[in-house]
Amino acid sequence: MLDSFGRKINYVRVSVTDRCDLRCDYCMPLDNQNFIKKKEILTIQNLITISESLIYLGIKKFRITGGEPLIRKGIRDYIEFLNSQKNKKNLEEILLTTNGTQLSNYAEFLFKNNVKRINVSLDSLDSKKFSLITNGGLLTNVLSGIKKASDLGIKIKINTVLLKDVNDDEIIDIVKWCSSNNFKLSFIEVMPIGDILKKRKDQYLSVEFAKKIINKNFGLIKSNHETSGPSKYFECKNINLTVGFISPISNHFCSTCNRLRVTSNGKIFPCLGDNGSEDLVPYLEAGQEMKLRKILSDVIFNKPEKHYFDINKESYIKERFMNTTGG
Ligand code: SAM
Ligand code: SF4
Repeated sequence: MLDSFGRKINYVRVSVTDRCDLRCDYCMPLDNQNFIKKKEILTIQNLITISESLIYLGIKKFRITGGEPLIRKGIRDYIEFLNSQKNKKNLEEILLTTNGTQLSNYAEFLFKNNVKRINVSLDSLDSKKFSLITNGGLLTNVLSGIKKASDLGIKIKINTVLLKDVNDDEIIDIVKWCSSNNFKLSFIEVMPIGDILKKRKDQYLSVEFAKKIINKNFGLIKSNHETSGPSKYFECKNINLTVGFISPISNHFCSTCNRLRVTSNGKIFPCLGDNGSEDLVPYLEAGQEMKLRKILSDVIFNKPEKHYFDINKESYIKERFMNTTGG
């Protein structure tokens, strides 16, 4: 379906839970007080009901995200539903964004269910630093999960959020590691979503910083690898690697944005950087499908033109953290 600016909207990111087994300090506060109440979390059947309507309206790509999607109870049932839709050719692709902690247990299941490309978020290859960023995460766990998935044939893209004075000295190591393992890599600018203790401008590092370092060491050539996503891709001349740069702050990509977001309490956000959302819960009972489709098509049509992030100003998104809407 087209929105009012003529963009073809065919991609949804479904946050199946806002809970997580890590606490990345740029994502949400350690003692997050904003978790969705348990009783408000959608059942898997309700997630399926929303997904069926989105598929009816032409959504072809589903990315499962969170919180940490692989700790959601019933996640296997939801993925099996999406796979059944893919087998009927109603869907083109099922994708996943994960922190990788549970990958060892899920890799085979994912592969069997047509989840053939996953994004794993990894901001450091140094176990101490990894533990600091994630508030206690075990790097070895994540690395063995990634290896298992990759050995099975799942294509891996590593997403690294650039953090000033935290991982800016690891850019070359991460590039070399991804290259030697045949993973893609994207560097991402931190976004002012959710009020955390630190000032966002003290965390922020432009992707231009990473681009310069990589260009100097490995040479960058603009890639033919085009996606409708926000990453601008490059190939490295002197090392085998496709590397993307996602710059929501320094150079936004709203004019080609094709995505929607659904949260685990049944809200649909047509734009990550905008507070506007619609509550789908009133339309989830049997017999309400037509109303649900109407609301969804209105949301798609009225998708905002762009977000207005400013890293130097206070965020206008204070109480919604990335674990709610998913990356
Ligand atoms: N837990 C999963 C993970 O970490 O991959 C999925 C959810 S997480 C919210 C999705 C992505 O959002 C991760 O790549 C994470 O690094 C990114 N993210 C979280 N907070 C962010 C922020 N404030 N700015 C930019 N990216 C952020
Ligand atoms: Fe959890 Fe992902 Fe947020 Fe880290 S970025 S706290 S892994 S939801």
